[in-house]
Amino acid sequence: MSLASHVVLDIPASLLMERDLSHYLEWIWQQYFSDITRANEIRISYSYPWKSRLGLIRLALDRTHSFIGINSLLQLKQVPEYVLITTIAHELVHYAHGFGSPLPRMCKHPHANGVVDRELERRELGTCLRCCNEWIDNCWYSFYDMQRESGWANIPNIHHRTCRGCR
Ligand SMILES: [Zn+2]
Repeated sequence: MSLASHVVLDIPASLLMERDLSHYLEWIWQQYFSDITRANEIRISYSYPWKSRLGLIRLALDRTHSFIGINSLLQLKQVPEYVLITTIAHELVHYAHGFGSPLPRMCKHPHANGVVDRELERRELGTCLRCCNEWIDNCWYSFYDMQRESGWANIPNIHHRTCRGCR
């Protein structure tokens, strides 16, 4: 039995209808990050179908907002929800640790000593993370190649959207 079948996440049905990133962000924040100070506005949108990046977070030069960019392939239903949830949560861990956010830095490097994964575990997202890693290891590259060969036909608005004010 794969790990995936053990994931039980209490996701409101409304979130499963469409992959609206703002709704996911608010839900994940409420469920898992409500102790973190939201020091500025957080914007989130689908960015580019990167081959080896699921997401990124950047702080605007004027620090008034942070921008989370999510791999645009993650809006497709073939990608399990836990991959999207883990990706957003991963970026929120960076935010909480002061990377891509105005909060004080907790460590020198954003991924030092597996600090992100440990934080996800601590926040009870460990099962989600393991399922995500398993899916990425087993399925990502073939899925990616299929989408690329289709000329990204399944992605509604393909663009290199990053926020202008962000580094
Ligand atoms: Zn990261």
